[in-house]
Amino acid sequence: MADCIFCKIAQKEIPSNLVYEDDQVVAFKDLEPQAPVHVLIIPKKHVESVLAFTKEDKDLAAHILVDVIPQLARELGVDEKGFRVVTNTGDEGGQSVKHLHFHLLGGRSLQWPPG
Ligand code: AMP
Repeated sequence: MADCIFCKIAQKEIPSNLVYEDDQVVAFKDLEPQAPVHVLIIPKKHVESVLAFTKEDKDLAAHILVDVIPQLARELGVDEKGFRVVTNTGDEGGQSVKHLHFHLLGGRSLQWPPG
């Protein structure tokens, strides 16, 4: 989608610190990390948020949750101590980039509830 910064990252039109890529998904380091491990996992195709997923996206959603996130957690070394996966949705959810992304945060003790 034109003017979507995460579409541009997925298409390599702007640089990012990529940590994972396959035909459907990319993951890259967050520009402003909130924890020692902070990566963003995004679908390559433009989906605004989880609310915009359709039935056709079931395989994509499962791929992200079942394959990519656990693999990345292991590769980034946070699987044993624990980590958090967050997808901020909409304005009150704190979503600043309107392209679906899952934050994977870890490497320190994370507090709850979030602010
Ligand atoms: P959210 O506020 O949940 O929409 O998260 C958006 C995240 O994208 C924030 O944590 C930003 O630091 C991050 N971000 C924005 N632009 C970039 C970029 N060009 N490269 C990496 N991370 C980015």
